[in-house]
Amino acid sequence: MKKRYTFLLFSFLLLRLSHVVAQTPSIQRIDPSNWWVGMKNPNVQLLVYGPNAGTLTYSLNYPGVKLLKTSKTENPNYAFLDLSISASARPGSLKITGKSGNHTITRSYELKARTKEIKGAGVNSSDLIYLIMPDRFANGDVSNDKFTTMADPDADTKNPYLRHGGDFKGILNHLDYLQELGVTALWLTPVIENDEKLKKEGPDRMQAGYHGYHFTDHYLVDRRLGGNEGYIEFSKELHKKGMKLVQDAVYNHISDDHWFYKDPPAKDWLNNWPSYTNSSHKEQPLYDPHSSQSDQKVLLDGWFTPFLPDLNQRNSYLANYLIQHAIWSTEMFSLDAWRIDTYKYNDQAFMNRCNQALLNEYPEIHLFGESVASQPLGLSYFVKSKVEFPFKSNLPGTLDFPLNYAINDALKQNFGWDQGVSRLYLTLAEDVVYADPMKLVTSLDNHDMDRYLSVIGDDFEKYKMGVTWLLTTRGIPSWYYGTEILMKNFKDPSDAEVRKDFPGGFAGDKENKFTAGGRNKKENEAFDYVKKLANYRKNTPALHSGKLMQYYPENGIYVYFKYDKNKTVMVATNSTDKEADLNTTRFAERMNGFSGARNVISNENINSIGTLKIPSKTALVLELLK
Ligand code: CA
Repeated sequence: MKKRYTFLLFSFLLLRLSHVVAQTPSIQRIDPSNWWVGMKNPNVQLLVYGPNAGTLTYSLNYPGVKLLKTSKTENPNYAFLDLSISASARPGSLKITGKSGNHTITRSYELKARTKEIKGAGVNSSDLIYLIMPDRFANGDVSNDKFTTMADPDADTKNPYLRHGGDFKGILNHLDYLQELGVTALWLTPVIENDEKLKKEGPDRMQAGYHGYHFTDHYLVDRRLGGNEGYIEFSKELHKKGMKLVQDAVYNHISDDHWFYKDPPAKDWLNNWPSYTNSSHKEQPLYDPHSSQSDQKVLLDGWFTPFLPDLNQRNSYLANYLIQHAIWSTEMFSLDAWRIDTYKYNDQAFMNRCNQALLNEYPEIHLFGESVASQPLGLSYFVKSKVEFPFKSNLPGTLDFPLNYAINDALKQNFGWDQGVSRLYLTLAEDVVYADPMKLVTSLDNHDMDRYLSVIGDDFEKYKMGVTWLLTTRGIPSWYYGTEILMKNFKDPSDAEVRKDFPGGFAGDKENKFTAGGRNKKENEAFDYVKKLANYRKNTPALHSGKLMQYYPENGIYVYFKYDKNKTVMVATNSTDKEADLNTTRFAERMNGFSGARNVISNENINSIGTLKIPSKTALVLELLK
């Protein structure tokens, strides 16, 4: 009997002990993964994660640093530590101590000195931004193409859904090519780790993260691109060449393979629905005075796809997490600007807080969102606007989708009252809604659209007209990789069709279009046209930063001027099928005092500008001469 009692007691103790062992708290990670001394905002909130990390009592002892507050959520694996770092704090290793009874854990946390690299320099209308999907541009290091330990361990340039091996080194190998073209800034699709499995999206479609928009760990740059160290090096090399770096942010959602999706800190970390609800993608409910709250909620809280959990930015810990990550990235990688993905789907009050935090720390930084909207009025809700909306966005810039559509329509449609080149004129007239239209980022196409050349029916004359408008009208032009060598395609059967490898960037490529010798005659003609105009633009302040004056189109002829006190550039488009003799009397307001002109593309001088001969389907760029 006694023996049996002893056994039971022993079993009970063992059970208690195993319980205690399972409950032993530990710290697996602290985000942000480091911070800096000497930031303008002295506060930072650390997310501490590990089994029962939330049951510990935290303290720290470091000169100039105070633990203001420890917060817990309903998930015992998280604690949030609010730190205040005084101006006198020195760089070094801070010890964070967590205690539970007799159990003590100590973790070191690095406070770095800020580097001398310039951060948040911004991009402006003197820049030409070149958009690259890094996996598909050039492979400079075959040793990082794939890792067996990753969820998608394969790489194959023949498979549209798999990694192709492109990386930062590959881009660095071609900076001379980009600079020759006239590019001054690079925007890469997101570089953050997408360690996710291939997922079946439909009978013949897969969802894959080769493009970078499916984050799985905010604090890791994907090692297949070169990792955090490779990205720091990449940024340094760009800056050495006088080029700028734009990072692509995603605040709206994460991959369902993200580490914190598997164990979220709080039930309201994500926007959950009783049954799966997709975003409506309709932005109107946010500004429509007649809209319903339920329509607003579906746009904002509906999921982008079933694989992309929608983040609830009204949770203050999550909001802090995302904002601090943006600042951490800007500081760590010396970023100059941010493009913000799926902007219109975010909680707009959160976005204002996030934008303001970046602008406070980096006053010159440029931020521009992706809000797909067809009309300037709708778009202006998501950027600094002159419209008296009840909610005022503080975002400095946005991608200009209405102008993109107008350029395409101007090339596809015949001239009419509100068709053809009238679409360009009418769209720019609506610039009245924007606080500063010069901060809008313009484009002909991008990684989510049918490629420009295909949209305009492979017409090379139209190609040059659209390129001319993009590089001479107002705003900050962005250029999608490969459009300069006439890469084309529709998004059929998948987006990968418009994200093909740049020929010459990958081992075994039959052609190398990074060199003039590798391009055919037509491709060289296209490359040379863009190069000529982009470099003229770069060196002509009147063109990139001057005022715009446009005249309403007549008979398919559309004329505008870019000018400052030193120079006047006239852009005269004949969108018709016939050569035109344009009497310029109507434009006296801008042409008075000028007697001739130089054709910027052909370098020919024109001695008389009273009447201008414009060939059919041509946009002339003329620098006016006294
Ligand atoms: Ca590689």
